Amino acid sequence: MNILDEIKLNRVLLSDGAWGTFLQAKGMKPGECPELWNITHRKDVFDIAESYLLAGSDIIETNSFGGSRFKLSLYGLEKRAYELNHAAAVISREASGRDKHVAGSVGPTGKMLLMGDVTEEELYDAFREQAIALEAGGADIIIAETMSALDEAALAVRAARENTKCTVIITMTFSKEPDGGYHTMMGVSPEEMVISMKEAGAHIVGSNCGNGIEDMIGIVKAIRAADNLIPVMVQANAGIPELINGVTLFRESPEMMATFILELIKAGANIIGGCCGTTPEHIMTMRRVLGS
Ligand SMILES: [Zn+2]
Repeated sequence: MNILDEIKLNRVLLSDGAWGTFLQAKGMKPGECPELWNITHRKDVFDIAESYLLAGSDIIETNSFGGSRFKLSLYGLEKRAYELNHAAAVISREASGRDKHVAGSVGPTGKMLLMGDVTEEELYDAFREQAIALEAGGADIIIAETMSALDEAALAVRAARENTKCTVIITMTFSKEPDGGYHTMMGVSPEEMVISMKEAGAHIVGSNCGNGIEDMIGIVKAIRAADNLIPVMVQANAGIPELINGVTLFRESPEMMATFILELIKAGANIIGGCCGTTPEHIMTMRRVLGS
């Protein structure tokens, strides 16, 4: 069933948890290209997708967050963008079977239009290449995530809408201001995100990363104040990262995160899941709260 139809039935859907921190736990070293693991460590990537499926996720993402040709160029791999994104989607689809959703992950390119780093056309082309490869590999959703600039986010959404049949999700990363409001690094509020992303064609909007689950409640309320119909997705970190003896720790336990799930749903979230630091245990605990 199309994910938008499932949401219309008032089902709260469960996404998956972290990929980046999971890959590190599997031995990926700093300086390695995560997307190259889709070829060189296929089994490890498959295990991540499968462990989220077994934890109860309805939606499995893909190991393609840094899969734009711009990000891949840091490793000299820009010419392999199609191949690496396609492989990412094939692995997640193979792990999740036909019934679950595969959401092709698209992250920021690291290029800023504002700084004149890149043209709109170049960004659009890069997002189009990624979206087409992810759909061809088996994704039924494209999720542009961890975005902070509106112009880049809008190009990612448009490129996915105009070149694939996928459902398109956009989630941005907000942080809390001293006045209690929320803004991305580029100064975008949740309200501004909703208005611009609907205009760009997004089916679902929301927030990921940057915050633990408790602050996500305020973000969902701000989104709902701007629009009470559009489906909302939230993927919270397992708390704010803390650097202890050179190691990044995420301290929110599955139980701590689970305490806020019902409040998050009450605020208006339709899809929930985890970002950095969350594990299959976090997702399994969320599944218990949601029921099947
Ligand atoms: Zn994250």
